[in-house]
Amino acid sequence: MSDTHRVITARWILPVDGEPIQGGWIRLDDHQIFEVQTSKPPTAAIDLGDVAVLPGLVNAHTHLEFSDLSQPIGEPGITLPQWISMVVRQRGDSDVDRRNRSIADGIQQSAAASVALIGDIATPPCHYDLLGSEESNPNAMPAIVSFAEVLGLSRPRSDARWKAAQDHLACDDGFGYSPHAPYSTPREMITRCVDASAKSGRPLAMHVAESPAERELLTAGTGPFADALAAMGVWNADLFPWDDRPLEWLIDELSRSSRGLLVHANDFGDREIQRIAQHSNLSVVYCPRTHAFFDYPPHPVDRLLQAGVLVALGTDSRASNPDLNLWGEVQHLLRHRTDLPPADVLRMATASGADALGRPDYGRIQPGCRSILGMLPTNAKSIDGVYESFRSEFPIPVPR
Ligand SMILES: [Zn+2]
Repeated sequence: MSDTHRVITARWILPVDGEPIQGGWIRLDDHQIFEVQTSKPPTAAIDLGDVAVLPGLVNAHTHLEFSDLSQPIGEPGITLPQWISMVVRQRGDSDVDRRNRSIADGIQQSAAASVALIGDIATPPCHYDLLGSEESNPNAMPAIVSFAEVLGLSRPRSDARWKAAQDHLACDDGFGYSPHAPYSTPREMITRCVDASAKSGRPLAMHVAESPAERELLTAGTGPFADALAAMGVWNADLFPWDDRPLEWLIDELSRSSRGLLVHANDFGDREIQRIAQHSNLSVVYCPRTHAFFDYPPHPVDRLLQAGVLVALGTDSRASNPDLNLWGEVQHLLRHRTDLPPADVLRMATASGADALGRPDYGRIQPGCRSILGMLPTNAKSIDGVYESFRSEFPIPVPR
């Protein structure tokens, strides 16, 4: 592998944080980008041909530990409480070795799909060390922002998970906290995670506003979630309901964290969206194919973007999505959300994810940013033609 500077050129370069460039060139090495120019490339440039060069993609939310699944758990249209019961039944016995092998698998799958940065929810103990040497991998391995998941409606269970999270976070200053979800994590533990995030500067990610059933549980203490928790033997009558406006309380609480990622956000109303928009340290991660798997009503992504909320894309795990190919989320939106401009969709898949994870050196092609790039076949003569190619073609990693 060469570590010297080189220049690449292609039919199109899409910097994301700047206008699309027809022709043009990029000077880079194996680590970072040094120069992006719109002029005629030097003769020594490596011509990638009829492709659009994109930044490495950002998968802002997944659970790599499920990457060994060959298909999602349950049938499309399953309710979230039913699905969670099945996941707990099928994966409750997952051991550490299996988790670590799945994580390594998931990282390889992501690298092959031109993903450069991953926001991963982890169940400690686990690690990211099974990737082998960089020389043995043809693709650059993505960086990981790992969030240690904390949950448990009983005190002993949530305390044990809190302890495991502390051990995991000691491995890396960039790792963060993940109180799992309002239906699985007591408010007291959510507050403990937020306090720790605020104090340490670590990020925090939480599944929030996933379904109307979640809102019913939090406002009334009844409904499909209450029934499912009772059936699993973990119902705790002291914890539910919260109050009349539980999601507003939660938004305010998460806004005290150093950086908060609100994952899913399927069920937010306008008042809640305005509340999120008041906090520049909060972002939303939308998982389009997982949203479709559960057959939820249309996602408020348009209203979130209009309100100025940073919206990133995630695949979620292979327990609710057939693969970890983030471009599948892009294509799903181009097909089903034609109200969203393709440039906005590309931004959600790149720069917005990087910003949500606190890694602005990813997700854009500009000097100082990482040089993990993707290339997508296109012979388009206009940018609209390039966006048309997005619908049928997938990016592959630019060779290093
Ligand atoms: Zn998730």
